[in-house]
Amino acid sequence: MTWKYGYIGTSVVLAANGTQVRIVIKFLAMEKIDIKYRKPLVGRYNKSVSRCLDCDHEFLKNPKYGTIFDNINGFNDSHIGMVAMWECPVCFSKWFYHSEYHYDYFLDAVDDGTQKYYGSGAKAI
Ligand SMILES: [Zn+2]
Repeated sequence: MTWKYGYIGTSVVLAANGTQVRIVIKFLAMEKIDIKYRKPLVGRYNKSVSRCLDCDHEFLKNPKYGTIFDNINGFNDSHIGMVAMWECPVCFSKWFYHSEYHYDYFLDAVDDGTQKYYGSGAKAI
């Protein structure tokens, strides 16, 4: 997989010993997200990312529902930065989580046809 839509930047952080350390970080700005994947923000923030807090569904434990990237139904800005939104395939609760690193994986799922909302044959929401 290659990064297609992010850009690399640097930032200076304070290390535990008080020294300044320059780190390399990958940014993904909302304007990089294709307009067709931008959706109104719905659901609640889910710190556990890929586990449904309502029914305990976990994508890694239940591969028949696909990956979390297969179940992302949109991206948007929020009070915590850019987020990916997903719907639990079991109980249909709606969640979002930080997604700076996940857009490319999502696009791979679209290309592979496994993406439930935007893959080949999928009905756009
Ligand atoms: Zn659920």
